[in-house]
Amino acid sequence: MKIPQEKLEEIAQANDIIDVISSYIPIKKRGKGFLALCPFHTDKHPSLNISQEKQVYHCFSCKASGNVYSFVQNYEKITFFETAEKLAARAGIELKLKQSSPDVSNEISMLFEINKIAAKFYNHNLDNLNESEKDFIYSYLVKRKIKRQASVKFGIGYAPKEWDSLLNHFKEENLFRTEDLEKAGLIIQSDKDKNKYYDRFRGRLMFPIFNENDKVVGFGGRKLYDDDPGGKYINSPETKIYSKSKILYGLNFSKDSIRALDNLILVEGYMDVIALSQADISNVVASSGTSLTEEQVRLISRYTKNVTVLFDADLAGIKAAKRGIEIILEAGLDLNVVTLPEGEDPDSFIDNKGKNEFLKLLYKKQSIINFISSLYEKENKLNSVNDKTDFIKEIIGYVSRIPDKIKRVFYVKELSSLYNLYESDLRDELNSAVVKFKKETFPPTSLKIPERKSLKDVKRGEQPSQEEMDLIDIFINGDDESISYLENNLETSYIKNKLILKIIEVFLDEYLNEGRIEVSKIINQLDSEDAVSLITKCSMNKHELSVSEKQSKNNLLGSPHKINIDYQKFAKDVVKKFKINELEEEIKNLGKDESKINEIVELKKRINELSKS
Ligand SMILES: [Zn+2]
Repeated sequence: MKIPQEKLEEIAQANDIIDVISSYIPIKKRGKGFLALCPFHTDKHPSLNISQEKQVYHCFSCKASGNVYSFVQNYEKITFFETAEKLAARAGIELKLKQSSPDVSNEISMLFEINKIAAKFYNHNLDNLNESEKDFIYSYLVKRKIKRQASVKFGIGYAPKEWDSLLNHFKEENLFRTEDLEKAGLIIQSDKDKNKYYDRFRGRLMFPIFNENDKVVGFGGRKLYDDDPGGKYINSPETKIYSKSKILYGLNFSKDSIRALDNLILVEGYMDVIALSQADISNVVASSGTSLTEEQVRLISRYTKNVTVLFDADLAGIKAAKRGIEIILEAGLDLNVVTLPEGEDPDSFIDNKGKNEFLKLLYKKQSIINFISSLYEKENKLNSVNDKTDFIKEIIGYVSRIPDKIKRVFYVKELSSLYNLYESDLRDELNSAVVKFKKETFPPTSLKIPERKSLKDVKRGEQPSQEEMDLIDIFINGDDESISYLENNLETSYIKNKLILKIIEVFLDEYLNEGRIEVSKIINQLDSEDAVSLITKCSMNKHELSVSEKQSKNNLLGSPHKINIDYQKFAKDVVKKFKINELEEEIKNLGKDESKINEIVELKKRINELSKS
């Protein structure tokens, strides 16, 4: 049985870690924290540190660490569920797992709740159609091959034709004000009579749009009736919880399989995701009509570095998709293409040819660079000198976006041999394209994501660098501005230590979803003891960090008993240090190659500028 995260938080909040631990062992206050003899090893001097502020503990001797749940669980040697029951009982919280009353304490959670009720309403309608609608809707579902199972999984529903069916449903529930429904984008104020409202979605097949945490954030409504003057799809407007450019449709259902397969299939629409899911191909998301955005690519990169796109495109189609391709390449993701026969979409293809044929297509995927090259060839665009020049320029434009030098070189070699071009020509063109691109994007955006390192490259137990530890410190102890600075300026490629990278990804996830980072809560989500130990340790010893000397000046001005760290400045300094490290690394790699002297000088100049900034 799974206890909802909100419930776990509620229980944790009602069980102060100091109260709970001191009910098991004696603890002493020391400074800001608390100390105890560690019960998890034979401890002679108190080495268990407990932070009331962060609600975590950490033993500097045996590294035992965690939150209130892990303490009770490990001390009593019981299951997590029993621990939750015990702590709930201790605080007088009823652990009713069926229905909890909705949390509408703030606007965000209220909008989630409204969308959830609306999704249930639409979904319920589909099972309770009146006779006149029934035949029509069901035959539509049959025609689109939407099976019962899929309509349950994806929560597909029906918005009746009436002007106010959803509005009336909410009136019966009597939970929300009309303004709140409008904020959720579900109803629209009438132009003629400002006191009147009507349903946004009428007579449409409804696809709830979920965020990656299974919460309904909006809807897409597919037109059903010929007399409907609206477009084929109507979507929820942008709201506080729904931003089209930040959502990938289907990600909540597919994220586990994307991680497991280390590959994501990107399709266009809701129906493609559903059709592939019905064929048991589940690592699929849709960008839902918009061209791919940086936010979406960032979201993808948290789950995999390998993207497969289905294209039925010709060169004109590639030009239209140019920006999306560039964004994916710039992020350092591997982009492969599967070509569908003309006029087919995944839906129709699987329907006509079956799942196995589709899987065969997937095996035949091509890198985007090779795909575009072969299009040029197919369209006979490689004959004249002019054609070849166009080709080189375009293809090199794409290659120059790839952050990994070695990969770029690899493509140049391959292209030169495949299409009988001089490697030196390609190389020259590439070098100037890279310089141009770097100029355009300097300072670098936060988007670039590093190559996925193979496990061989990562030494086990590699010590995190001071800067990497500083990052964790800022995420845990920093203010909102400093974290948001990191969110925008930190390139994950800076982070070499795998464990730290994993932690930072969890932090970023939490920060983007919840707007803040709560250590004791994150601990429940981490499956690595090393990670928990590192985080709890950072929660304890923030005074011992490298910047403490720099801070000492501020401290004289600050309150005498508290070290006031300027986390915003700290965050900027850490990012700067990372950048300098990267440049120094690059210089080291260029080594003593004399032909590279200009490049080295250029790099040193940039280091100098950075150090002074
Ligand atoms: Zn210990």
